[in-house]
Amino acid sequence: MPAVPRHAATVIVAAARPDGSYEVLLTQRPDTMAFMGGTYVFPGGALDEADASDELTARSALSRDDAAAQLGESVDAAQALGLFCCALRELYEEVGVLLAYDSDRRPVDPAKVRNVYAPHHAEVGHDPATFAGFLAAERLTLATDQLVAHGRLITPEQSPIRFDARFFIAPMPEGQAVLPNPNEVPDYVWITPSAALQRAQDKTLAIPIPTLSMLQGLAEVPGYEQLMHGKHKAREVEAFDHSPLVTSVLAPNPGLMSGAGTNTYIVGRGEVAIIDPAVADAVYVERVVREAGNRGRAALVLVTHMHIDHIGGVAPVTEQLGVGVAAFADAPFVTRRLHDGEHITVGEATLRAIHTPGHASDHLCFELVEERAMFTGDVVAGFGTVVIAPPDGNMLDYMTTLERLRSLQPDRIYPAHGPVIDDPGAKLSEYIEHRRDRERQVVDALEAGLASIPKIVERIYAEVPKALHPVAERSILAHLEKLSSDGRVVRAGDDWRLA
Ligand SMILES: [Zn+2]
Repeated sequence: MPAVPRHAATVIVAAARPDGSYEVLLTQRPDTMAFMGGTYVFPGGALDEADASDELTARSALSRDDAAAQLGESVDAAQALGLFCCALRELYEEVGVLLAYDSDRRPVDPAKVRNVYAPHHAEVGHDPATFAGFLAAERLTLATDQLVAHGRLITPEQSPIRFDARFFIAPMPEGQAVLPNPNEVPDYVWITPSAALQRAQDKTLAIPIPTLSMLQGLAEVPGYEQLMHGKHKAREVEAFDHSPLVTSVLAPNPGLMSGAGTNTYIVGRGEVAIIDPAVADAVYVERVVREAGNRGRAALVLVTHMHIDHIGGVAPVTEQLGVGVAAFADAPFVTRRLHDGEHITVGEATLRAIHTPGHASDHLCFELVEERAMFTGDVVAGFGTVVIAPPDGNMLDYMTTLERLRSLQPDRIYPAHGPVIDDPGAKLSEYIEHRRDRERQVVDALEAGLASIPKIVERIYAEVPKALHPVAERSILAHLEKLSSDGRVVRAGDDWRLA
């Protein structure tokens, strides 16, 4: 049984800068902590029983119903407001920042927070239940109405410690200072989201993936006012369950060639393999890690081929999961070289590596034996055709590969780009036919006396925008090279003619 996640609240404290941008507060967790020790994170922590108590929620500016409405899901009203109170209690406990009103509904006096309330700060650190009593005695109201709900993060089912964390944006109260609780916060930093991302990349600031995900979303909201009014959506990376053994995560790298983005597949149950971690985007990596964790222990990363939109996320994903990388090619990060026909068992799934050169000489497809399904990488796409560009791309190899895949008669194709293909036989025949047609057109062009690739492209791709002609030229070169190895054409410098 997976552990039930602990509810938690995380606070993104933002301070406006003169130019309208803002900095956020990152606090260091003590080295000794089991969960992300030594790293820089947003303040916050687990929901305490006292947070949703009548005593504390009575000191809240926001009502229970308003709190539930802000979280926007079927969440118990008492618990919703408890999360808002938890956010402000944790904020006070960890860094001494008190977001509250006095009895006249004015912001609490910063001088009092610094001088008079200091003993309470330490007390709340020892016992969260004392927070309500302190607020009542000082006739303070928690400014829960100033918190802006900013998404939710649930750790994978297999995590040793699970959290269902709610994120809140909070304005840094004017005149107050960060007074860290030395037992909980050894260090802190005010930093813009983009500077934090840069420092994480430079490895001068250790920031765990969940925090990075949030920072990446915040970096897209550069203005303080915009942030405080919640006029933005937390960025989501989508995942899709295709079968009991297969889930995909869509990488945020849409483009002309990649369609909506690269499909990263998570295959197996109990134990899983991750095929083609595509990009180093933190929100995407976090989703891949979570989806993998929900299905089992990650065993390894598989790579279909070494193009950047298939390996861009290998480093962060393997770092997060502590797994190796298996591929056909020899690359510095590859820990296991696979050869044609090799079987890989992950949990309840059996994968067979199939060497499929053509798009790339090192290309592997993976057959999921239990489902007679084929992960085809860039050999077959869910839309359009794929690029065969020399020197690494080879049309003769590619045609052989398509014939071989067709002879294996898969029931389903999971492509790296585009939707799942449920009639692989028809699709593969269509692909083969398309290339044969193209080859015939090339031969026709040569017969008509066209000798240079640009001229052949102009004729065959007359309908295609000029911007795509360089890509087309490489494809025609691939066809000519194939025809040359078939002995049907000969090359003379940049020109080609029929043999
Ligand atoms: Zn590729």
